[in-house]
Amino acid sequence: MYIKLDHLTKQYGATSVLDEINAQIEEGEFFVLVGPSGSGKSTLLRIIAGLIPATSGDVYFDNQKATDLPPKDRHLAMVFQNYALLPFMSVAENIRFGLHNLQLDTTEEAKRVNDALAMVQLTELRDRKPKELSGGQQQRVALARAIATKASLVLMDEPLSNLDAQLRTEMRQELVQLHKELGMTLLYVTHDQVEAMTMGERIMVLNDHHVQQVGTPLDLYNHP
Ligand code: ADP
Ligand code: ADP
Repeated sequence: MYIKLDHLTKQYGATSVLDEINAQIEEGEFFVLVGPSGSGKSTLLRIIAGLIPATSGDVYFDNQKATDLPPKDRHLAMVFQNYALLPFMSVAENIRFGLHNLQLDTTEEAKRVNDALAMVQLTELRDRKPKELSGGQQQRVALARAIATKASLVLMDEPLSNLDAQLRTEMRQELVQLHKELGMTLLYVTHDQVEAMTMGERIMVLNDHHVQQVGTPLDLYNHP
C-alpha cells in the first residue's frame, strides 16, 4: 500500500510538534524517517497508525483518507522499541496473539506462526517466555509478530535501539533482507543517521518539526 501525508500538522496546545508534513511513501518501499530526538518522528508514526489524531491535514492509504478507515482496517503492523511482548506468553503465543484480530482459522494461524518463526530463526525457542530470551531474540519475536500478520504496511519505531552495536548491525541486514523477501511497505523510524543511510531506499529527514530533506541515500550524500 502507498501512503500520502498531506499538509499534516500536530500541536500540543501552543506547541507545534509537526509542521506541514507532505510526503509520499511508495508501495513496497523501505522508507526511513530520521531526525534528532524530539523532532516529531514518533508522533508522525503514531498519527499514521491511527493511535493519535493529527491537528490538521490528512493521511491517505492508497487514496483513501485514513480518518475514514478505522485502525483495524488499515492492515498495518507496528514494531516498538521496547518490543511490547506479553511476559506470561510463550514466543509462539505472542506471535499468535498478534493475529487475533484477523480471525483466521486455526490451521492458517498455526502456519503463519510457524512461517514467521522460521523466518526469524526462532523455531527452536518457540516455547520460551520472553524473559528467557536475549534482547536480540526478543526483538526477533517482535518482528515475527509483525511479519505473521502479512500487513502491507509495517511501522517500526526505533526497533533496534536497545540492542548492542554488533547485534544492531546484524539485525539491520536481516531486516533489509526480510523486506526484500516480503515486499511490504516499511516505514522505519530512527535517530541514527548511519542506520538511515544503510537501510533506507529513501530517507526523510525531520528537523525542527518539519521536513528538511527527502531522497535516496545517494541524494543525501551528494547534497548534505
Ligand atoms: P521523536 O520521536 O522524534 O523523539 P516525539 O514525536 O516523541 O519525537 O516528540 C516530539 C515532541 O513532541 C517532543 O518535544 C515531545 O516532548 C512532544 N510531545 C510528544 N507527545 C506529547 C504529548 N502527548 N503532549 C505534549 N507534548 C508531546
Ligand atoms: P519516544 O521518544 O520513544 O516516542 P517519549 O518518551 O517521547 O517516547 O514519549 C513517551 C510517551 O509520553 C508518549 O506517549 C508521548 O506522547 C508522551 N509524551 C512525550 N512527551 C510528552 C510531553 N512533553 N508531555 C506529555 N506527554 C508526552
